[in-house]
Amino acid sequence: MMVNGVPRWTCRTHVARVVDGDRLEIAPLVHLPIIRDLVTDMRGFFDKWSRAKGRFVGERTRRDDFAVIKPATAERTAVDAGIECIGCGVCYAACDVVGWRPDFLGPAALNRAWTLINDARDTAGRERTRAIAGDAGCHACHTQGSCTTWCPKHLAPTAAIAGLKRVTAKAAMRGEL
Ligand code: SF4
Ligand code: SF4
Repeated sequence: MMVNGVPRWTCRTHVARVVDGDRLEIAPLVHLPIIRDLVTDMRGFFDKWSRAKGRFVGERTRRDDFAVIKPATAERTAVDAGIECIGCGVCYAACDVVGWRPDFLGPAALNRAWTLINDARDTAGRERTRAIAGDAGCHACHTQGSCTTWCPKHLAPTAAIAGLKRVTAKAAMRGEL
């Protein structure tokens, strides 16, 4: 919800930390349609995860052994840094670009795409890179960092999006887009 004009994870936010004098204004998250009172419709938010190919696509079956992933690799470190997203939409409400252009995929969906692109077990990297490289994808981000400032899980979608920009630039040079 918006608390005194700032997006917050309200179920974990102590009033004492956010009260402004004796003022506490609670409102629904911005950039999402309001259903009623404080309830917003998050379908558009999650549809963008789908547009960003935010679903893991593996090749192993349940009969195969577990993949062995070394935790210290740069790729796995990047995954671990972004994986704890709770899908709260705080970053989405914090992002001015989402407000300016509603087709922008937004920080959460792009952060999700970044974790999957770095997941050695995933097999849909090329398709996902194409999905996030368009006009409404990572290059629409202005790198102002509001998403990273307000994420209650202390993730850094800004850094994830910067990584996606590098990935798409390399893919473009290889003629893969
Ligand atoms: S860094 Fe990019 S995604 Fe994050 S709030 Fe700014 S414009 Fe939005
Ligand atoms: S990146 Fe952070 S603010 Fe955005 S949906 Fe995930 S947990 Fe919430």
